[in-house]
Amino acid sequence: MSACILVINCGSSSIKYALIGQGLSTQIAGLAENLGTAQARIKGTQADGSAFNDQFNDNANIESKPTSHADALHYILAQLSDYQPVAIGHRVVHGGEKFTQAVQIDAQVIATIRQTSALAPLHNPANLLGIEATLALFPNLPQVAVFDTAFHQTMPPTAYRYAIPENLYTDYAVRRYGFHGTSHAYVSQRASTLAGTPDQGGWLTAHLGNGCSTCAIWNGQSMDTSMGLTPLEGVVMGTRSGDVDPGLHRFLADNLGWSLHQIDEVLNRESGLLGLSSLSNDMRTLVDAAKHGHQQAQLAVDVFCYRLAKSLAAMSCALPMLHGLIFTGGIGENAAEIRAKTIALLPHFGCTLNQQQNQRMYAGAEGRIDAGQGPQIWVIPTNEEGRIAAETRQVLGLGE
Ligand code: ADP
Repeated sequence: MSACILVINCGSSSIKYALIGQGLSTQIAGLAENLGTAQARIKGTQADGSAFNDQFNDNANIESKPTSHADALHYILAQLSDYQPVAIGHRVVHGGEKFTQAVQIDAQVIATIRQTSALAPLHNPANLLGIEATLALFPNLPQVAVFDTAFHQTMPPTAYRYAIPENLYTDYAVRRYGFHGTSHAYVSQRASTLAGTPDQGGWLTAHLGNGCSTCAIWNGQSMDTSMGLTPLEGVVMGTRSGDVDPGLHRFLADNLGWSLHQIDEVLNRESGLLGLSSLSNDMRTLVDAAKHGHQQAQLAVDVFCYRLAKSLAAMSCALPMLHGLIFTGGIGENAAEIRAKTIALLPHFGCTLNQQQNQRMYAGAEGRIDAGQGPQIWVIPTNEEGRIAAETRQVLGLGE
């Protein structure tokens, strides 16, 4: 096997990895989780669905468990050594205004990512751990940073500026950045290619996973997106509130005596679908509970769809013309009810749904679900690792 790219997505206690071959084919994908704890585990799946490795399971000797990202990466890279990746692509969450596209990693790039960490204190330091560990292990392998925010750097100031004093932008870089860039870029490019108009036209994308965001894309460029300075802004998510009145912070501080830290925790971890339903952040559980008469679950589903439709309608203002809508992410790819409910809230778009096709789209299926009139509607399984590998190849001039 030749010319594989290793994609690394380092979180605070986990590392997702994927070995991507030519044509975006995933050879191996895996996860190291609970790093530094007795539950640490590394597992992987090969292209044929068989297990690649499944190490440090619960019966393993605790002494042998990876205690750091470097340990886990060392193990993963040793396991992959037969495949000899030609480069490594790292997902980096926040590139600020410094990075408008993927870049080859050097000392200067690392320093700039570090400076940007104030904008993503939970994510960028973990991403840097992965970069530094792989650089130490493979100093001669070229490495590329691919930023979640970079795709959205084409947004005009009308979309990215907050209506707050200018110096907060000029001196402190407070503005809207947007996230899920690799996903919005991938699915819009894929849908426009399948539609026979590659990178042309106006598309609205809805990335609906645990985090959710919408994006308006015109001729392949992001014009607006629902997330902002942080991934908390915008639509309702699994445990994140999305938009709230900024006055809520003052209300909670004055009336409940909550600290800013507490407010941030509640809005990030206890809100969204979980907060509304008091049941779960998992859309499968909620759809099922709603069918059995659980009223809060029904309300959570209804608010989710209404706020999503409202966001898509708002995003349409960024497009001269609307050619199609795209659903992706765990919910977007699998939940026919959520897609149907959202489309039904957008009659003024002129969308029509092919109910049968809609029901057929789940578990990785890709295709159109509109009934032929009005804007196209697509379900496109996202491929963030594939897109990171493609951008890594592009930056290093390795060809497709
Ligand atoms: P992440 O953002 O962590 O990558 P995913 O893209 O995997 O998350 O999406 C997770 C969400 O997808 C969860 O809310 C889950 O309930 C939802 N989901 C997955 N399959 C289905 C399904 N068949 N029906 C409804 N929701 C689903």
